Amino acid sequence: MATFFDTPIEFLKGVGPQRAELIQKELRLFTFGDFIQHYPFRYEDRTKFYQVLEVNETMPYVQLKGKISHREVIGTGFKKRLTALFTDETGELELVWFQGIQWVLDKIKPGIEYMVFGKPNRFGNKLSIAHPEIELVSNKNDVGGFLQPVYSITEKLRARHIDSKFIGKCQQEILKGAQSHIRETLPSPILSSLKLINKKDALLHIHFPQNQEWLIAAQSRLKFEELFYIQLRLIKMKLVRQEKFKGQVFNDTAMLTQFYKEHLPFPLTEAQKRVIREIYADLKSGKQMNRLLQGDVGSGKTIVGFICMLICVGSGKQAALMAPTEILAQQHYANLRKYAEKMNVTIALLTGSTKKAVRNVLHESLQNGELKILVGTHALLEDEVKFNKLGLAVIDEQHRFGVAQRSRLWQKNTDVYPHVLVMTATPIPRTLAMTLYGDLEISVIDELPKGRKPILTMHRFDSNRLMINGFIKKQIEEGRQIYIVYPLIEESEKLDLKHLMDGYESIARAFPEVPISIVHGRMKPKDKDYEMARFVKGETKIMVATTVIEVGVDVPNASVMIIENAERFGLSQLHQLRGRVGRGAEQSYCILITDYKLGAESRERMQTMVRTNNGFEIAETDLKLRGPGDLMGTQQSGALDLLIADLAKDGHLLEQAREVATSVLKDDPDLIKPENRMIKIQVESVKKAAVNWSRIS
Ligand code: ADP
Ligand code: MG
Repeated sequence: MATFFDTPIEFLKGVGPQRAELIQKELRLFTFGDFIQHYPFRYEDRTKFYQVLEVNETMPYVQLKGKISHREVIGTGFKKRLTALFTDETGELELVWFQGIQWVLDKIKPGIEYMVFGKPNRFGNKLSIAHPEIELVSNKNDVGGFLQPVYSITEKLRARHIDSKFIGKCQQEILKGAQSHIRETLPSPILSSLKLINKKDALLHIHFPQNQEWLIAAQSRLKFEELFYIQLRLIKMKLVRQEKFKGQVFNDTAMLTQFYKEHLPFPLTEAQKRVIREIYADLKSGKQMNRLLQGDVGSGKTIVGFICMLICVGSGKQAALMAPTEILAQQHYANLRKYAEKMNVTIALLTGSTKKAVRNVLHESLQNGELKILVGTHALLEDEVKFNKLGLAVIDEQHRFGVAQRSRLWQKNTDVYPHVLVMTATPIPRTLAMTLYGDLEISVIDELPKGRKPILTMHRFDSNRLMINGFIKKQIEEGRQIYIVYPLIEESEKLDLKHLMDGYESIARAFPEVPISIVHGRMKPKDKDYEMARFVKGETKIMVATTVIEVGVDVPNASVMIIENAERFGLSQLHQLRGRVGRGAEQSYCILITDYKLGAESRERMQTMVRTNNGFEIAETDLKLRGPGDLMGTQQSGALDLLIADLAKDGHLLEQAREVATSVLKDDPDLIKPENRMIKIQVESVKKAAVNWSRIS
């Protein structure tokens, strides 16, 4: 049944088929319902008039009242422009037009009072406003004394005279017709307990706020609603999963006890112990576990993963550990094998470069259940890899794997889905985690093993290179190893590769006696691994590389991380890279090298790195600086395309939304109670809109 809000926008007064097509293409708005949710991204305060004396070029826009004199057309062709002098009692500034000059000349008469609106700029000691909006003061009434909405539009739309004002007029038109069609979407007990305004008022005041208070009320209401329905969906998914999918029960802890007593290589941190308890509670619960384990670089996630696998193997099942790169898989394998062999647990490695003959044997022992732990890359996902009884899949460094891959691991045991533990070293701010992984349980290791010396981070400029080389030399003399990392991003791959090679050559010239490794993404995996292995063994002292070494690689003897063109990396990535050092007993250093000239945001990134080693603090700053869409691993998620809420700013509302959604579903999981009817209707209507939220399907 089509409703008012399903009406295609071409039927909107003043739009028509051609404009509608353009709006659909440019803004992805198809129906009245879509359109009304194209909220303003800011508002202009038209209640205030400034005086020329108060105006300066840092103001986003100003509104002035005054008279015009001295109109003058200057220049020819390209440079032709109309200037006019604008004066009030306090001073004067210049108005400039580059286009529509004749029209302005006809319309603007000297000696009459106008109101002028626009963005002030400064040229030399002269203030000016280019292409101001200009109107007779006597017309002021129909502009209204409100906050004016400003809508995002595209250049193509602007060229066809579909500007912010036009969108505003359309919104007015829709709102006029919509009054009897706007359906409340939040039950009144929720509205009243959280002091939220109703939907009708919210839609009106989000577009045409009567004043600041109404605007804030409208924003809170709509943000809450958006976050509430996201959380409701995620929590529902979790409940459904917990109900529908039985989990294998692991409760034989004999092996675990033996490992704790005889082979634990170091005392676990309190955080590690707590997390293991959380996971163990899942593993014996009879419900299928889907848990995200967050922990800063070096917080010791590997041993936690191993202990969980031991619980699984101890209960007669098999476990898998999947890593995103060959190097990492090898390293995990080398580490875990030490533990596994002590416990007489069979373990093997499977990657893309595993030989066919080895592979065949491996497949066989996996299928007959002899092999208990399989470590590898996404080669694990291939169809020929069949487990006898897969009980637990551990995935390291989640952001490298897609959701689809996660679900393919499930399919490795279709009798009873395996438990899944996703480990990530990219700390995610709480608000993001709640939205991206709101359907997962979350555990956090928020403590580093004792005795770690915090890494000292410095920000240096290209001009300090001699000093830096001196520092490298001293560290090598003391037996340490050094990483030097260059950015490599796809768009400028060739140039980046050249920088890397140039860097390598100048390092080789500066340290002719020192064996150096080089690793980058264009090398054959075999060569890469060979170089990496030489560095791990200590045969080479300097590793010149791109970010391929970013994830997980562990060389305790490496104590210096030098990052070239550090301004080109995001905060999370810088932090990841820094985490490659500081793994041994020695003092470690991270040196960020940038150009002397730096933008404000880059400067703040460098300062943040120098100030703190705390990954969560860094992630929060990253979120504030860049917004959720740009954070590592969130790019293609789609889960973050929010209409109005902002995960960097609306943490409080998000917590509230999650709390309320949880309590609603706890009380009435299928939303059948009459007081939740409204919620049920909204959930269904969103489902119809066919947003694919289910990330495990
Ligand atoms: P990440 O969380 O980055 O994967 P790892 O698991 O690689 O960290 O651990 C980093 C280093 O710290 C490893 O060398 C590991 O053996 C060591 N480690 C882990 N837990 C502890 C602990 N509780 N006490 C001392 N060292 C530990
Ligand atoms: Mg790790």
